[in-house]
Amino acid sequence: MTEQLLMFVNGKNHLPTSGEFFDTHDPSNGAVLASVAKGNGKDVALAVMAAEQASEAWASLSPIERGRILHRVGQVIVDNRDRLAYMESQDMGMPFKASPGVIDSSAEYFEYYGGLAPSLLGDTIPGEQGKFIYTSHEPYGVVGVITPWNAPLNQAARAVAPALAAGNTVVLKPSEYSNLTALELARLASEAGLPDGVLNVVTGFGDEVGPALVSHPDVAKIAFTGSVRTGQIIGELAARKVMPVTLELGGKSPNIVFEDAKLEAAVPMVLFGFIANSGQICSSGTRVLVQRSIYDKFSQMLAAAAQQISIGIDKDFPTLGPIANQMQYDKVMAHFDTARKEGATLLIGGERATGEGLDEGLYIKPTIFTDVTMDMHIVREEIFGPAGVLIPFDTEEEAIRIANDTEYGLCSGIWSQNVSRVHRVAAKIKAGTVYVNTYHDMYVGAPMGGYKKSGIGREKGIQALKQYSQTKTVTMNLI
Ligand code: ADP
Repeated sequence: MTEQLLMFVNGKNHLPTSGEFFDTHDPSNGAVLASVAKGNGKDVALAVMAAEQASEAWASLSPIERGRILHRVGQVIVDNRDRLAYMESQDMGMPFKASPGVIDSSAEYFEYYGGLAPSLLGDTIPGEQGKFIYTSHEPYGVVGVITPWNAPLNQAARAVAPALAAGNTVVLKPSEYSNLTALELARLASEAGLPDGVLNVVTGFGDEVGPALVSHPDVAKIAFTGSVRTGQIIGELAARKVMPVTLELGGKSPNIVFEDAKLEAAVPMVLFGFIANSGQICSSGTRVLVQRSIYDKFSQMLAAAAQQISIGIDKDFPTLGPIANQMQYDKVMAHFDTARKEGATLLIGGERATGEGLDEGLYIKPTIFTDVTMDMHIVREEIFGPAGVLIPFDTEEEAIRIANDTEYGLCSGIWSQNVSRVHRVAAKIKAGTVYVNTYHDMYVGAPMGGYKKSGIGREKGIQALKQYSQTKTVTMNLI
């Protein structure tokens, strides 16, 4: 009998008002993992009501007390690391050796924002004599958080922790492809002392639960991570309510390798940049720009390193797990077909990985395309699979021009030993994050977000805490 997963509303398990459930699958072998509650607008309304009712008491707690509870949430995540890691691996295919680290970094959001909660300081503003002006930061109330399937607990923690630290309550809607750890987070947080109604989870399909949450009159802010297309839909709905949104969307990030780069460090990290999590990371460095003088050598080294990568959910890290779901697998394969038709040359990969333990899973080999032109789909569109393109360049100016020739601007990488060049290029790249001689080097305190179509607002760091609160200015006339 398949396990039935209920929603979590007002501190309790919540049956779907529709009475309906849907299956969720393990992408490493196709097995049905669980049957998930299919929420709808009525469930959203109940969750928002619970969050609204919990709002005043939660916001009235001292920041130290809120922070203390968030620390306890971080601790229960760490205490349950192995169980949560296994769940995440089963639900979306993250290799077993990779998922414990991702669970730890989910806990860090609660630890970091728990510590930061009392530091949401206002300003005193010098004005005319006889006037006293100050600001304070107040929560919005109920925040809706909508997350994707590529790093489910991590994405949820990244938005939920700062939203709660700032004094908001939350209704979380995880992706229909990966619900397990979001539901478990809410249950564990409740055990850790988070009051009822402060964190609610409504599961279900994006086009039903999503718009109901975004359009609900008592939801005062949305934090969304996902595709540009859905971000635009949410942005339009939010505009009708004049409601703020944080949108963390796609990317087509450049990773630039100059001729003076330390190649032995660059090769494995550039590869990791586009195959980590099977390429299902919005900040993947999928456009690898290589200076022409080292292009042949670098491409041979990169292809050789890619061929060494073990494939399988149970292999030693770094390894390639399966693609998280059938829909995404089909999309990646369609992108590869288009690349071939448009004339790109396949250096390695481009096909399903098969063999012992792999045949039932959605595995794709590490893939590199060369001989690409800037108008090709494989160069312009986010693939969200273990694939990169190699693009040669001659000068620093050309590298910057190619790097910025994209509608996205989430992330980027520079590989060089020349400190002046690194600063020049970092300043000119239109992206929210620049890694230098490293990649996917994520830290909870470092703001992350996109230029251009990669998004609006910033997650992580003190900036995110401020974005989950609104500023009030008090001007006093000292009569
Ligand atoms: P992906 O292609 O990465 O699955 P989506 O943008 O489709 O990205 O999904 C990200 C999240 O947005 C998921 O939780 C999904 O259910 C939700 N979603 C999908 N469609 C909508 C919508 N119309 N309104 C609100 N949320 C949606």
